[in-house]
Amino acid sequence: MKLTFILIALGATLFATGCNAVPTNSPTAIDNTTNSTMKFPFQLTDAEWRKRLTPEQYAILREANTERPFTGKYWNTKEPGFYRCAACGAVLFTSKDKFDSGCGWPSFSDLAAKGTVVEREDDSFGMQRTEVLCANCGSHLGHVFPDGPAPTGLRYCINSASIDFGTDTNSLAWKSNDKK
Ligand SMILES: [Zn+2]
Repeated sequence: MKLTFILIALGATLFATGCNAVPTNSPTAIDNTTNSTMKFPFQLTDAEWRKRLTPEQYAILREANTERPFTGKYWNTKEPGFYRCAACGAVLFTSKDKFDSGCGWPSFSDLAAKGTVVEREDDSFGMQRTEVLCANCGSHLGHVFPDGPAPTGLRYCINSASIDFGTDTNSLAWKSNDKK
């Protein structure tokens, strides 16, 4: 009985250690739209964002919430293709850099192109983490950690709700994200 408990505790500890750098809520990101030091090309009013996004997307993209691990639609996808910002449609990541981090969120070792995201220090929850935002619209995507695979050594830990998967980059007649 006691041993079982110890094993469970050990397992939980190992799990927590392996995934200690998860993208939890980040209140510092809430000021996306008001942070005068960061200007993004794609701007909408709060009312427009609310109309454009589902409530879950809004909570994550615009309020920096985090979906629960292993619940998003992309944590385990392996199909070749591209991942766009779910808020503005900018291509952010590609399947060639996606890897299984075991943490329950889509993980990428690199960006689709330099500068598709911007980074911001996030000291919330007593942790020092680096938040990643869409460089085009400033929406919250997740965090980046220095424990990814070679050659970059980076792990972009991204919410499924923050991205949209597609297979054709040329079809920039990307689906309308407007939720009527
Ligand atoms: Zn965006």
